[in-house]
Amino acid sequence: MFETLQVEPRCAAALTAAVQHQTLPHAVLLEGADEATRRLAATELAKALLCEGEPKPCGVCRRCKKVDSGNHPDLYFIKKEDGPAIKVDAIRTLKAQAGLLPNDGDRSVFVILEAQNMNVQAQNALLKILEEPAGHVSILLTCPSRTALLETVRSRAAAYTLANTAAEAQDPAAAEQARAAAKAFLIALCTGNELDLLLSTAPFQADKALFQNTLSLLPAYFRDALMGKANVTPLSDPAVAARLAAAFPQAKLLAFRDEALRLFDAMQRFANHNLSINALCSAFYAIKLQ
Ligand SMILES: [Zn+2]
Repeated sequence: MFETLQVEPRCAAALTAAVQHQTLPHAVLLEGADEATRRLAATELAKALLCEGEPKPCGVCRRCKKVDSGNHPDLYFIKKEDGPAIKVDAIRTLKAQAGLLPNDGDRSVFVILEAQNMNVQAQNALLKILEEPAGHVSILLTCPSRTALLETVRSRAAAYTLANTAAEAQDPAAAEQARAAAKAFLIALCTGNELDLLLSTAPFQADKALFQNTLSLLPAYFRDALMGKANVTPLSDPAVAARLAAAFPQAKLLAFRDEALRLFDAMQRFANHNLSINALCSAFYAIKLQ
């Protein structure tokens, strides 16, 4: 069902199988790729959940056509309107709508587009719905990277990576710069002392976007290092991941990954740029010395 979208075949197959076997979790996070692809993939998945034909989405039944024309009464899109964030009121409305029975069929689907735009209160409000969803409710979130959401939210949604990572889907030159910066930082982490680590973060001082893009990449390196030789598609540079795996035991790789996620979360919300760069150095070096 995702054949026409720029989605990794493995991910498309996993989503299709989950729909066919009705094993798709009630909360799904679609990450990676670009914003338009995420939106199309979420709509396609919503259509599959609402479809009354076979195979789903059939594209020709009444409900599929309603989705295509933007008129399905049980498909809700929540997105950032004017202003900087998706606020708690939008999630309260979602909650009220989720408490009603569907108008047409047995399922209501809520799509939160670019869920990283939810402010902290909105994410906390969503948490309650994710914890105790009504049986007829499906919640789909789109996001450049799951690391942009609070840990509590992302741990309650099944994440599917449509393609690549956030930085890679955007400006290719910026993505390349972020990969180089991530590599320099991680090599310094493997082989250097605290000063080497500090020096490797120097390019971030004047470039907040580079810092954010680099932070968004780091968890994937530790994930790949933890996976080792397991049969998974690497999300990062395999040579760098292999160096990390050789340099650190699993417990430290996990601690590094969690710290990278925590810093990325903090940067999305409020954190001071320079303090976060210092935190990256000091926290990672502290884990290394443990
Ligand atoms: Zn259909």
